[in-house]
Amino acid sequence: MKSLIKVCIHCESDFDANSREKHRSGGKINECPDCVYELGTETAVKYLGLTMGDGKSTAMSIVAFDSPEDRDSYSRAWKAVTGFHKGKSCQLGGVQTNIGGRPVRHVSYAGGNPNHKGKAN
Ligand SMILES: [Zn+2]
Repeated sequence: MKSLIKVCIHCESDFDANSREKHRSGGKINECPDCVYELGTETAVKYLGLTMGDGKSTAMSIVAFDSPEDRDSYSRAWKAVTGFHKGKSCQLGGVQTNIGGRPVRHVSYAGGNPNHKGKAN
């Protein structure tokens, strides 16, 4: 991506607003990534993308949270109950992870047709 050199309003150093680090840190367009981290100016909680296998298709859901802690715990619970990086062994453990009870808002859902042969019901 083409460089977009800006001057930070806090430390007055030059930075690339199109850099990977700037995209990762967030913050306003005129704040360098270091100042965003140090001053904690990015307050938005990033969306979380979840994938699932519904029937014979793959679905994707995008969800939003009020706090990074909620996002983190939901993400960990989701991975635990869906077998992310674990395969079927997630269903063999003696511990049940509860994914409910966390404040979550669905932003978007894209699901395939569960009737994979396209026949009418
Ligand atoms: Zn700065």
